Amino acid sequence: MNHPTHIDVDGLRSIFASRCVVDDEKLLESFSLDQVGDERYAQRPAAVVFPETTDEIVALVKWANRTGTPITPRGAGSGLAGGAIPVAGGVVCSFRNMDRIIEIDVDNLMVVVEPGVITNALDRALKPHGLFFAGYPMSEDICFVGGNVAENAGGGRAVKYGVTGNYVLGAKVVTGSGDVITLGGKRIKDVTGYNLLQLFIGSEGTLGLFTELTIRVIPRPAQRAIVLSTFSSSGDATGCVAALKRELPNGPSSIEYIDGTTAKETDVSLPKSQRTGIPESVNAVLLVELDGDTDQTLSDQLEAATGICERYNASILERGTDSNAMARSWKLRKQIPWWAKRHAGPWQTLEDVVVPPASIVELVAAVEELRDRFNVAIPLFGHAGDGNFHLVPLQPADMKLEEWDETLHQLLDELYDRVAKLGGTISGEHGIGRKRVPYVRRFIGDYQLQALRGIKKVFDPKGILNPGVIIES
Ligand SMILES: Cc1cc2nc3c(=O)[nH]c(=O)nc-3n(C[C@H](O)[C@H](O)[C@H](O)COP(=O)(O)OP(=O)(O)OC[C@H]3O[C@@H](n4cnc5c(N)ncnc54)[C@H](O)[C@@H]3O)c2cc1C
Repeated sequence: MNHPTHIDVDGLRSIFASRCVVDDEKLLESFSLDQVGDERYAQRPAAVVFPETTDEIVALVKWANRTGTPITPRGAGSGLAGGAIPVAGGVVCSFRNMDRIIEIDVDNLMVVVEPGVITNALDRALKPHGLFFAGYPMSEDICFVGGNVAENAGGGRAVKYGVTGNYVLGAKVVTGSGDVITLGGKRIKDVTGYNLLQLFIGSEGTLGLFTELTIRVIPRPAQRAIVLSTFSSSGDATGCVAALKRELPNGPSSIEYIDGTTAKETDVSLPKSQRTGIPESVNAVLLVELDGDTDQTLSDQLEAATGICERYNASILERGTDSNAMARSWKLRKQIPWWAKRHAGPWQTLEDVVVPPASIVELVAAVEELRDRFNVAIPLFGHAGDGNFHLVPLQPADMKLEEWDETLHQLLDELYDRVAKLGGTISGEHGIGRKRVPYVRRFIGDYQLQALRGIKKVFDPKGILNPGVIIES
């Protein structure tokens, strides 16, 4: 698709008036990148619009089809794959103003929301009703529900509760042709035709724009507890994960892994009162969270989890229901991506590989081998219970940027080969975005790629929605 060199500002202004921004350099700049962290991806949009209704979005998409202007939908811009990075000279459609919780339907255990609701704001609204949106990601303080659905985000509790897509029952969507379709609804069961709803979930803004979402919620678990354990061998920690999943009667709600060096360095970067005090000799850390509805269930779970960790030679650092200990442990885990981002240099990447859960033993060993062979520090952390790991290779202080670029590519190349051999793939939850497009072919075959192109053509015939995301434009 050839994009116009000049944007039809009058056309946009006739839809959005002052909610169309074209001349605020600072604002346009702030929409040129998401959390992908590598400035080389930055693209300045020609305009950012802030719609408030589905009708305005229909008008926007029709205008874009008429003028051949690309649109990039944007939630909070917390994505880690470049999915919300615009095409230079295109329009960003920000969902910031569409942030209403339309209905909390307690009897049906469902909520209806606009896509710009901050994920944690939904949780706060559900709490007084004793309800819970379990499919949230760990960026819940900043990300939007629409972004979660568009990425099919996972998160800290996916090991027990599943990912965002497991909770989406319905969506109102404006497709790339400007048609409004309603997929699913307030129904637990629905086999009426092909499952288009699941096709749109995780489509990263390339097929349509969500303007309303119906989400299933569950009764909120009454109590939580954690076990934060340290291991002198990473093999013991990864081996322990399968045992925790197999043997815990009520299932762990989280099993998060952090490599020892990263855990120690991140811990000491925190204010003293927030530190967990990771000992020097540690090679791996597991944060296990449990939940339950009675004291008895929780204490049985705690005892069982502690016993399993100790069987794998763990030392227990924190254990129990104390809210400060829980806050400290989660603070450490949630701080890791920010700590890694600060130390990774200007050309950086946060990877999101996923393997069959039982293969994490081999995955972690492979990353350690790459770390030693390339002589590059690689913070490694993630949702061990789901087989989904994040890693951030750090540019060595004595390596020039150009050399680093080559080293990083070689390292990732080998990593992806290992992941493929283990039956894994390139992204578990962050998506393909712009960043992973060059590698998609390695993980999906020609037939599948052609099918994706065909699907894109059906819903977005002129290719105006997020071109270059997931598949090459
Ligand atoms: C510290 C940190 C921790 C994170 N932890 C997790 C985690 O645990 N699990 C996880 O899965 N991710 C995680 N992420 C990544 C990110 O937060 C999630 O992918 C999140 O779901 C993105 O939401 P967002 O609102 O920021 O979307 P954005 O980044 O703005 O957009 C993401 C994609 O969705 C599309 N999009 C946004 N809104 C719409 C809409 N209304 N209609 C159609 N398309 C739309 C965009 O075009 C883009 O392709 C983390 C990120 C950070 C920075």
